[in-house]
Amino acid sequence: MAKVKTKVITAFCPTCDTRIRFSERPRLFDIVSCPECEEFFEVVRLSPIELQWADESSLGDEEIKDADDW
Ligand SMILES: [Zn+2]
Repeated sequence: MAKVKTKVITAFCPTCDTRIRFSERPRLFDIVSCPECEEFFEVVRLSPIELQWADESSLGDEEIKDADDW
């Protein structure tokens, strides 16, 4: 059996296609920001991770997670 050992979790920015790295496993509806275009995205799917533009209204009380710098 192949073991997936990668601990680095990544997703691609829907706007600029930059690979966004998560420092920890994101949860559904987490808000992340892209280090390149500085847009905010919502995690709408976990495997594979899929990001969608976050509504400004959903930014209010959500915890913002910074993506790791490259
Ligand atoms: Zn981006």
